[in-house]
Amino acid sequence: MPSEPMPRTRFVWHLFFGWCTLLAAVIVACFWQASVRLAELADDAQLRRSIAVAEAVASRLPERIGGDAAGSVETIVADLARSSGMQIDLFDGEARPVLPAGRPASQGSGDERLLQEARQGRVARSSRYDAATGRRVLAIVMPSGTPGRPKAIVRVTTDSLESDRSLGREQRQMLAGFVAIALAAAWGGYLVAKRCSQSVETLAGVAGRLAAGDFDTTVPAAELAELAEVAEALEAMRQQLVERGLTIGRQGSQQEAVLGSMVEGVLAIDARQRIVSINRAAADLLGLDPAKAVRRPLQEVVRNPDLRRFALRAIDCREPIEDDLLLRGPRDRTILVRGTALADSRGADGGAVIVLNDVTHFRQLENIRRDFVANVSHELKTPIASIKGFVETLLDGAVDDPGDARRFLGIVARQAERLEAIIEDLLALSRIEQTEGAGNLPLEEAEVRAVIEAAVSDCSPRAVEKSIRLEVACEQGLVVPMNPPLVEQAIINLVDNAIKYSEPERLVWISAQHGTAEEGDEQPCAVIAVADQGCGIAEEHLPRIFERFYRVDKARSRKEGGTGLGLSIVKHIVQAHGGAVSVESEPGVGTTFRLFLPMAAESAAIGSS
Ligand code: ADP
Repeated sequence: MPSEPMPRTRFVWHLFFGWCTLLAAVIVACFWQASVRLAELADDAQLRRSIAVAEAVASRLPERIGGDAAGSVETIVADLARSSGMQIDLFDGEARPVLPAGRPASQGSGDERLLQEARQGRVARSSRYDAATGRRVLAIVMPSGTPGRPKAIVRVTTDSLESDRSLGREQRQMLAGFVAIALAAAWGGYLVAKRCSQSVETLAGVAGRLAAGDFDTTVPAAELAELAEVAEALEAMRQQLVERGLTIGRQGSQQEAVLGSMVEGVLAIDARQRIVSINRAAADLLGLDPAKAVRRPLQEVVRNPDLRRFALRAIDCREPIEDDLLLRGPRDRTILVRGTALADSRGADGGAVIVLNDVTHFRQLENIRRDFVANVSHELKTPIASIKGFVETLLDGAVDDPGDARRFLGIVARQAERLEAIIEDLLALSRIEQTEGAGNLPLEEAEVRAVIEAAVSDCSPRAVEKSIRLEVACEQGLVVPMNPPLVEQAIINLVDNAIKYSEPERLVWISAQHGTAEEGDEQPCAVIAVADQGCGIAEEHLPRIFERFYRVDKARSRKEGGTGLGLSIVKHIVQAHGGAVSVESEPGVGTTFRLFLPMAAESAAIGSS
């Protein structure tokens, strides 16, 4: 659970309240000290007054205080008591009360001690608290006469009522003064705190804007030395951040350019499988919008379960891993995926980088190669098995029967011819593929008509055999850059097929004219068409008809001496010229093959398309 944020005080109030607390402590201490001192001064003043009264009494006392002098003594004491407002008691030398008559000598336990001290000639004093009146009582006892043998002892007693009142007044005035000083000092403190905090607040605002990414902000100068240091550090940090931002921006765009120009798809995910970065190639392969996919979980964005499982493995694996995945879509694609786990600086798993490679074409080529080897082996095996079988039969004795021997040798010869035909076709195909791959097919400007006529004359004997008429319709002066023997070979293959797959006494048309490979195409071509009235080809076979060893009717093809390579040779010859081939067919009606040979020599030299 996230912890509650600490309640924070503003800097100005922090300074102000600190100052106020200090001020209050100083004021209280001063007030207390002054009060104590005032009370002491008040006590001293009262003491001096009491001593003065006692001395006045003592100085005016007659030689004898008893007997007939008693009246005048009483008058003196009464006058002084009235004028001073103090209580005056008079004792004889033995500390026996004389005036006022009838009052006990002692008013408290301390009085005995005072009187004893006075008898010994010392002035004594006491201060006590009277609980009944709630006042302090101050007493002075003074001997009069010879020290050691006093003739009388004067006691002056006064309470603190009056001095307490004036002390209280003094204290109130003093308190008012202190409060006024404190308020003024607090106001002054507030102004100072405000000024200090303003600089801090300005710097805090600048730091906040820098943290929010506003690097255009200016760092103001500060008056206080420490704050000036902070301001300088902030300015240095701002410049560094700007510099780093520029570097990161440069690196980012370089990285983006590199990733964007890669043919391989690159996908980076974090430990929680969120997409960190994805390049255009990966997004295209997975059918994603890179801007929307970033920061979203891979499991949510990618539909292919195999890729999601692969990503999980890639994050966990210590070694790089790779696998082939099939991506379903309008066109199924085989993707080679390689995954490497990413480790962050603390060594913990930080996600993975996945590289996607579209290897559909390579896998198709591998399959074609595999099929081709299997097909070649199969095609060669059949005639060889036949030859072997008949040779063994001959060796087993059939050679002695001239009729059988002749028949079997005839079969062996036909199978050997078939083998030769297959091998010749394969060699031809390989030669054409080589020139097609190298793009160095030797071309010459040749008239199409001459090439067609040569091919037709080659096929005529077979056409005559089946009573098939070959009709040629060729545009005059149609000249294209070509390799005449190869184009002648392609036309022979097509015309041969037309004869093979037609019933006797049908027609085969061979035509050539100007045209284009597709409607709207700007590239002018010579279009050579071979049309027949043969058995035709069902629609489902048409896409595969140009594959090596692909046959619609295997038995018929073999019977007719076909190798299954004829159309494949035609396709590669045309591709080597930079052209194309097409087929149209309707079962039971006929088939038309068209060769498109470009009129421009440069495109022909490009080689395979
Ligand atoms: P093949 O040596 O078997 O004729 P091709 O590559 O020349 O081999 O032809 C492939 C297959 O296409 C043939 O086996 C045949 O079934 C079909 N085919 C080719 N040309 C025609 C055509 N003119 N009419 C009908 N079928 C054809």
